[in-house]
Amino acid sequence: MSRLKKTALVIGAHPDDPEFGAGGTVAAWSQQGWEFHYVIVTDGCKGTPDASQDACLLIQKRQQEQQSAAKLLGVHSVTFLGLPDGEVQADQNLLEKLVAILRKQKPYAVFTHNPEPLEFRRPGGRPHIAHRDHRAVGQSVLDAVYPVARDPHYFPAHHAAGLTPHKVREVYLWGSPQADLRVDIRQTLQLKLDAIVQHESQISKDHPKILKARRSGRPSYEYFRRIRISL
Ligand SMILES: [Zn+2]
Repeated sequence: MSRLKKTALVIGAHPDDPEFGAGGTVAAWSQQGWEFHYVIVTDGCKGTPDASQDACLLIQKRQQEQQSAAKLLGVHSVTFLGLPDGEVQADQNLLEKLVAILRKQKPYAVFTHNPEPLEFRRPGGRPHIAHRDHRAVGQSVLDAVYPVARDPHYFPAHHAAGLTPHKVREVYLWGSPQADLRVDIRQTLQLKLDAIVQHESQISKDHPKILKARRSGRPSYEYFRRIRISL
């Protein structure tokens, strides 16, 4: 790895997505000198099976949970865009918000959801239907990275606000059936699990999957499809 400090944005649809998708990598690379920042696109207000749950209180709670998890992993900041949970559209509104953040923070790398439709599958795992917000966010992030954030004629009002074009150099997609990068997270697995269970509105620290992962040391890897963007 270059000795230059590298910065990365992790852009997830919901509070907890960064931990599940890339928490072990965020912790490991932070320890190696990378600087991570999070962007959470939605307010997470539908993340409960309890119809009587107060949505506003849930939004607050999930933001606090996300801040706690990020802090554990060494993340420098969390930005909440606050779009309604479950209603994300890959439209100009979201694109402009993402491009503004890329132009402001100028990350070397971006981590986000695999945007391909329908299938979410870890290598060797069972397929799931990808959440619509995950697909919309993944697509919008890729559109924002290339070519929109790079080229000055997109969102020209940004220029007056001091947001200059920016070229992201690497994109890492989690949940891709075409993963081509395996990151060893044995050293940070417990930290990843600690961060995941900060999201106590979503998962119990005593959930059988958490306990099993703590005992077995699995999963010891995170998988990404890496896209390197040429100069
Ligand atoms: Zn999610």
